[in-house]
Parts: sequence; C-alpha cells; structure tokens
Amino acid sequence: MNNLISLAIVVPCYNEAAVIEQTLAALQNLLSHLSTAQKISQDSKLYFVDDGSCDATWDILSQAATTQPQVTAIKLSTNKGHQNALYAGLVSTDEDVVVSIDADLQDDPALIETMLDQFQVGYDVVYGVRSSRASDSFMKRVSAEKYYRCMQWLGIDLVYNHADFRLMSRAALDALKEYPESNLFLRGLVRKVGFKSTVVEYERAERQAGETKYPLRKMLSFAWEGLSSFSVVPLRAITVLGFVASWLSVFVIIWVLGIRLFTEDVVPGWASILLPLLFFGSIQLLSLGIIGEYIAKIYNEVKRRPRFHIEKTIH
Ligand code: UDP
Ligand code: MG
Repeated sequence: MNNLISLAIVVPCYNEAAVIEQTLAALQNLLSHLSTAQKISQDSKLYFVDDGSCDATWDILSQAATTQPQVTAIKLSTNKGHQNALYAGLVSTDEDVVVSIDADLQDDPALIETMLDQFQVGYDVVYGVRSSRASDSFMKRVSAEKYYRCMQWLGIDLVYNHADFRLMSRAALDALKEYPESNLFLRGLVRKVGFKSTVVEYERAERQAGETKYPLRKMLSFAWEGLSSFSVVPLRAITVLGFVASWLSVFVIIWVLGIRLFTEDVVPGWASILLPLLFFGSIQLLSLGIIGEYIAKIYNEVKRRPRFHIEKTIH
C-alpha cells in the first residue's frame, strides 16, 4: 500500500522539560497506532520546535531525534514566541498532511485520528474545537468568551474556541506560506487562506505538567495582535468619535456664546473649561495611542525581518 498519506505533527515547545517526554511517548504511540491501522504511511514524522528554551527541553528533544527516526528536533536561535515557533515547524515539513498541537497534552492527540478521517472525506483544514472551557480558570473563560464575541462583532473570522490544534493539507499549508506578514496570528490567517474546512470537537484537558507559557501579559498582547492584524475598526472608531465630538463641540460653542452674549451671569466657570479640556484631551491621547499601535505594526512589517532562525535541526 504505497498510497497512504504521510502525516507530520508539529509541536512548539518552550521550557517544556516537565512534560515533553510524556508528549513524545504519547505522539510516538499515536503514530504507530495510526500506521498499524493503515491510516498513515510509515514515513510520518514528529517535528518538535524548541523555541529558545532555557531548561532541558532541547537536550531531551535532540536525544529523542538522534535515537528515534520519526522525530525531528528543530532548535530556534532564541525565543520567538508560540506563533513563530509553530510557523517554523509548519514550514519545515514536507508531508501530505500537517497537524499542529501544543506540547502540554491539553489537546487530545487521539482526536488526530478523527481529523485524518475528515481529511480523507475531502476537507483541507480541520479545526480542533474545545467543547467546553471547564479546564480553564474563571478569568480565562470569561475573557476568552468576550474576546471571541468582540472579534466577531468586528467582523473578524475566527473559529469559536479553536486555538492552534488543527490539521492542514499540503495545499492549504502552501497557501498559508504565501502570507508574508511578520505579525503572525495563525488562527486568523488560516481562515483567510480558505479551502474546505470542518470542525471536530474535543474536551480540553488540564496541562499534564509544567506551567502555562502564556501569562496574562502575553495573553493580552496576543489578543491585541489578533485584533489589530485583522481589523481596522479601531481606526474607524476614532474617525467616528472625532466626528461626534466635533458636532458636540459646535453645540457647546453655541451654548457658550449664548450665555456670553445674552445673559448677565458670565461666571468664570472652571467646569465648562475643565471638562471639555479633560474630555477632548483624553480622547486625543487615546486616539493617538491607537493610531500609534497601527503605525508600530507598519513599522514592524516594513522591516521585513525574518520570523525565526533555525540554529540546528536533528533528523
Ligand atoms: N510556546 C512556545 N513559545 C512561547 C510560549 C509558548 O513555543 O514563547 C508553546 C508552549 O510550549 C506550548 C504552546 O506554545 O506548547 C502553548 O502554550 P501554553 O500551553 O503554555 O499556553 P496555554 O495552553 O496555557 O494557553
Ligand atoms: Mg497549554
């Protein structure tokens, strides 16, 4: 049977020494199960990308890559962040089908078999979608929900409750590679790429070991990255705000002139000076800030810097 498809599983890893051996074993088992079941070819592979970890992650990965033929370990020159590490892994593959999954086994590897079945019936992109957020903290649950709502409201196409656990066909991945932007928000880009897609649901587990690599600060910056990479609504909102504010100020001017010209009690009122001053001052600052964010983005894009450097690859 030579026409079996080859599968690549890409795993970005940042300081995952506590869990990586468990992940390696789980994914190795999955590969042998799938190849015994004749769902994938024998030359299917695991790609682990070490995103500049400072713990033993690389030692474990390079060891595994040396001793196990299915494992490829890729070491980035420094920490480039989840999205860039994942991208580095994706573009290093040459298999027919590529699945991306986190290193912490929160996403159920067994679902990959279902994803492959969907690929076989003709889907190029299969999104793993969490059926609930029970394994998240209250804060994360609420903020994630609001975020997806907000993105939807801004007209940004995202798959609800889908992170980066997904299958892509070679064709879809090749299309993704044509997007040159350096501000990467893969789950949004993959939607833009299009192709026939479907969704498979799974229950997301707790992290098997180690700590989250997405503290609040990184999460917020990632959320803003996604929003500002796919929507210019905040810029438009400034225009609308400016428009409304200028109309309001026309009325205020008329009112002030009316009092000045037709009444006797011209109180040297601090409120009527101070309030608009504060109001317009803060709106202007906010607007400048938002515009600045987009300029920063342009600045980053025009530099055309490479998204990552591979220091070493062990096959
Ligand atoms: N990750 C990475 N580089 C980073 C941060 C995270 O490669 O700078 C990887 C991490 O090792 C994991 C995945 O991205 O495989 C998702 O991170 P994590 O599980 O900590 O995020 P959470 O599930 O808590 O949102
Ligand atoms: Mg996780």
